[in-house]
Amino acid sequence: MNIDLHTHSTASDGLYTPAELVKQAREAGLSLIALTDHDTTNGLEEAQAAGQAHHLEIIPGIEINTDHAGTEVHMLGYFLDYQQPAFQQTLQTLRDRRVARAQRMVTRLQELGLQITWERVRELAAGTVGRPHLAAALVEQGYAASVADAFNRYLSRGRPGYVPRYKLTPLDAVQLIQSVHGLPVLAHPAELPDLDSLLTSLTQAGLAGLEVYYGEYPPEIVERLHALAEKYQLLSTGGSDYHGPGIHPTPLGKRQVPAEIVEQLRSLASERRKQPAPLFELPPYQL
Ligand code: AMP
Ligand code: FE
Ligand code: FE
Ligand code: ZN
Repeated sequence: MNIDLHTHSTASDGLYTPAELVKQAREAGLSLIALTDHDTTNGLEEAQAAGQAHHLEIIPGIEINTDHAGTEVHMLGYFLDYQQPAFQQTLQTLRDRRVARAQRMVTRLQELGLQITWERVRELAAGTVGRPHLAAALVEQGYAASVADAFNRYLSRGRPGYVPRYKLTPLDAVQLIQSVHGLPVLAHPAELPDLDSLLTSLTQAGLAGLEVYYGEYPPEIVERLHALAEKYQLLSTGGSDYHGPGIHPTPLGKRQVPAEIVEQLRSLASERRKQPAPLFELPPYQL
């Protein structure tokens, strides 16, 4: 069984619609994918309909972007009861904050003399807006040679177009995901500073897994992360983080992930479902 537990669609910053993604997954020989769009579950219905047509299972997922001591920390969530209204309201608020941030970044770039418009960025983003859409607008106008080049020149932290994100913490994301009975999994953790102390606090709060088999991680990194997962009794998950060509290097389904992880996630999710889901409230907004 070939699986991929980390993928994106046009519902966030992926280049293919959920239905196209499912078709590609089938063509790549996969039998299960998790769709994990940034701050949205709006691609899931289309993905699940396409999955039924193509005999491919879709795990409902999400990826929540957070900030921890000045670094990006991304939290995946799996098997969420995503239709809950309060949860959808929270995601809408997170997306509204992304719009405000992206507009401020456009203003920054305009102040640098670049001809890029919010209208065009919004057109390029069918769903959740993010820096990849700003990057696409910069490439289109000839200010960068590629998405990666646009990040290096303008959009990465410390570059002149950068505006910090809203201050949702990794702990907030763990709680948000658990408020709809989802399993929180720390995404692409290899470069995070103080990983041990982060894992100590997040595991106490209910973290369920660590993304060990990620993208282009080489065997020595996978081994180190797997040992950490065992130490904290976390499930070892993985996936490609496929967004379509040009954004991340790993093709869809081209990251080996042990298939038994799916059943382990499934049984942990149903175990945790026996407890009532904790309530979640967004912390006050400070830009
Ligand atoms: P945002 O959520 O708006 O802060 O944008 C973050 C997203 O940009 C990540 O989820 C990645 O998909 C993408 N990204 C971040 N850094 C780079 C990079 N150097 N090159 C290409 N894509 C990147
Ligand atoms: Fe992304
Ligand atoms: Fe990520
Ligand atoms: Zn991702």
